[in-house]
Amino acid sequence: MTILFLDQSGELGGAELCLLDIIDHGDHRFIDTPLAHGQVALFAEGPFQERLARADIEHHLVGDLRAPRRECSVVRQRLREIIRLIRPVREVLRLAQDCELIYANTPKAMVVGAIVQRFTGLPLVYHLHDILSAQHFGQWECRLLVRLASNCATRIIANSQATQRVFTAAGGERDKTTVIYNGFLPQKFAVDVGTTIELRRKLGLHQTAAHGGNRFTIGCFSRFAPWKGQSLMLEALAELADPTIHLLLVGDALFGEGEYGLKLRRQTEALGLQSQVQFLGFREEVPQLLSVCDLIVHSPRAPEPFGRVMVEGMLAGKPVIAPEEGSAPELLRHGETGWLIPPRDAIALAQAIHQLKADPGLRQRLGQAAAADASQRFHLDYTNRQIYDLCDSLLQSPRSRPSQPRPPDPGPI
Ligand code: UDP
Repeated sequence: MTILFLDQSGELGGAELCLLDIIDHGDHRFIDTPLAHGQVALFAEGPFQERLARADIEHHLVGDLRAPRRECSVVRQRLREIIRLIRPVREVLRLAQDCELIYANTPKAMVVGAIVQRFTGLPLVYHLHDILSAQHFGQWECRLLVRLASNCATRIIANSQATQRVFTAAGGERDKTTVIYNGFLPQKFAVDVGTTIELRRKLGLHQTAAHGGNRFTIGCFSRFAPWKGQSLMLEALAELADPTIHLLLVGDALFGEGEYGLKLRRQTEALGLQSQVQFLGFREEVPQLLSVCDLIVHSPRAPEPFGRVMVEGMLAGKPVIAPEEGSAPELLRHGETGWLIPPRDAIALAQAIHQLKADPGLRQRLGQAAAADASQRFHLDYTNRQIYDLCDSLLQSPRSRPSQPRPPDPGPI
């Protein structure tokens, strides 16, 4: 099975981290094995490209589709975007000659994949990592993506039921979609106690006379973007007015939202929280940083398509607070494997933090149950097997070729 993966980003967003795991893990991986080979066509350079190189994954930079600066009219901008597609399409057409299947991992990759699919007739899988709604995309983009995916993709992998629901509500073809969650290696989240103690010390979270014990530490792990809701967490922290609580903001602006990063720092100062909040920037050692936390908060202001950090927090054995919308209710069961709160409500968030801080037994029960649950449901062996089988079924069936009648739904995999 030779697969050409397409991805528009050079950054390490959730979709790219997910793709790295799909290509390079276990018996069902797509890095040179006797059964499968995968190569990646990238539309932007950056740390993702470096990670592909480090993992020895064949990859090609085939143009630059980063959003152009908005300095002209919408029509001119659209025209420029169309012109900028020419090089990637040409290059992907060339690479596709040696491939049996195209796998589009991001929206712009889907656009390029759809064009190439028209010329080559290869099966096209679209991995939908996004909720296609006005909260995340423009109306025009949503319509285009739903239509392209429905008409051109052979199969669509939705990363959660929430993502699938919005796609079908917007007119997307349900029969083509299959929900496959992001997968993780549970053992990556087993951090030895020595490392945790050392990291706590480095971060100044260890025992202090003033606090009489380790500081109660909350972790937020997300790129900086207004909808990811770090500002809501700061509001909740101010509401709590509890100086023994420490907040680690892990992440950075990846897709041009640098202004929001500055806004968060200004907000921290304005609320007088400087001594309680640490901005750690984008970090690779997420399991180690999770291990120093007592509580993980994910507080997006818009429904989350998947939200990898929720599962990562679960695998680290930590209680996770998240809003009761988007993917969160699929990942966490309130009071059993996590804690769900009303979305966009800083007071409710503060109350939940207060309640969980006061009850170490509850935190431990939630964390243990979460780790047991997540290591089964989101195990990379399981999810990669699903993806591998889905791709394999498209190659084995000549009916998956677009020149033939529409393929029947292969059913649950
Ligand atoms: N992450 C990371 N370093 C950081 C902050 C986040 O590696 O400093 C990771 C995080 O562990 C998670 C991913 O980035 O695996 C973000 O996943 P999410 O599903 O939120 O995707 P996004 O919406 O950011 O694309």
